[in-house]
Amino acid sequence: MRQIAIYGKGGIGKSTTTQNLTAALSTMGNKILLVGCDPKADSTRMLLGGLNQKTVLDTLRSEGDEGVNLDIVVQPGFGDIKCVESGGPEPGVGCAGRGIITAIGLLENLGAYTEDLDYVFYDVLGDVVCGGFAMPIREGKAKEIYIVASGELMAIYAANNICKGIAKFAKGGARLGGIICNSRNVDGERELLDAFAKKLGSHLIHFVPRDNIVQRAEINRKTVIHFDSECNQAKEYLALANNVQNNTKFVVPTPIPMEELESMMVEFGIVAI
Ligand code: ADP
Ligand code: MG
Repeated sequence: MRQIAIYGKGGIGKSTTTQNLTAALSTMGNKILLVGCDPKADSTRMLLGGLNQKTVLDTLRSEGDEGVNLDIVVQPGFGDIKCVESGGPEPGVGCAGRGIITAIGLLENLGAYTEDLDYVFYDVLGDVVCGGFAMPIREGKAKEIYIVASGELMAIYAANNICKGIAKFAKGGARLGGIICNSRNVDGERELLDAFAKKLGSHLIHFVPRDNIVQRAEINRKTVIHFDSECNQAKEYLALANNVQNNTKFVVPTPIPMEELESMMVEFGIVAI
């Protein structure tokens, strides 16, 4: 069983990419558990055909410890992917990171991590790997990490910060499997991300183009893989899935100083001087 965490700046496309990636992996015959670790609870929406998931923390609050069971919190979605949303605390009260710790602990106790699973994915909110959001990697659960980024400075800045977190938890086995570029159509984006990934000691595992079919699928509450399995974008997600499935490059990343990051952006023609 490979346990994989997906990190990246908010809004960069973690949930979109993770759902399409898991959908693609499921069509390749894999059994998958996907755990959404974002209080927004939108990590499984397109696999389930809507936001009809009861989160682990909501269930805990309404039913109490005894009332939570896997039938309530694990819903089968597209490709029989087992979908879980950890949920969050009531807004303004409590820490979302702690919620993730509670949710994953509970899933373990209830026996959600069955032997037949090929993959467990965690779609984790957070620009920086701090507190509870680090939980999937800090506790040595997900040893394989992919960072979703684009050619925009803040996305790369966040990716670099996340690498600092991974390096910190390297003792527990955390390794960077690669950078996924989710394109924002920035000039020189592929070259920049390629160079950035190499500087980290890693690689660009796939370049996912920006395509409006993602939005069309999204409003139909479907992944692109489900919505139109023959389209170009579906092929891109299948290629990403293949690259992840066959990946052998797992490293402790070497984050780079901010000045170097900025001069790299200038070098690739993204930032004017
Ligand atoms: P995150 O989970 O990182 O916060 P989301 O996956 O929710 O980000 O993505 C934010 C929005 O970006 C989505 O609503 C989706 O429509 C759009 N999006 C993501 N990836 C692509 C893409 N490759 N092409 C077009 N739109 C995309
Ligand atoms: Mg998300």
